[in-house]
Amino acid sequence: MVIAQEKLSRNKISEIARDMVDSHKDYNPFPLTKTLNIAKEDIIPGVMCPKCSRKGMKWHLKKWHCSTCFHSAVDCHLPLLDDWFYLMDRSITNRHFRSFAGIQNHHAAKRILKKAGLILKGTRRTAVYIR
Ligand SMILES: [Zn+2]
Repeated sequence: MVIAQEKLSRNKISEIARDMVDSHKDYNPFPLTKTLNIAKEDIIPGVMCPKCSRKGMKWHLKKWHCSTCFHSAVDCHLPLLDDWFYLMDRSITNRHFRSFAGIQNHHAAKRILKKAGLILKGTRRTAVYIR
């Protein structure tokens, strides 16, 4: 077969191939509320008790307490943070965490978020935590 006219030069093909490789991004479906168009208000907030699965554990004296089965533990918020990053957003503010976890104390929330291994970006009003 004879090619009458070269439509794309080898250099142009190489350039296009490089551009395609450079612009490739792994598909990230998170947060799912955005990907699946779910209203954030439809996600029920609250820390879930790992023993009885009831939501609404209360933070008191540096532990989460379940008022249904009386289980208490320090790290019950970790699955809640997983939920947040899978469902809600790629970052979380202190205010969002307090609202989602049902905790009032700003300083306690700050300690919990720091201890959870999240990375703090920004200061004061612009402060967000990321993974
Ligand atoms: Zn419980």
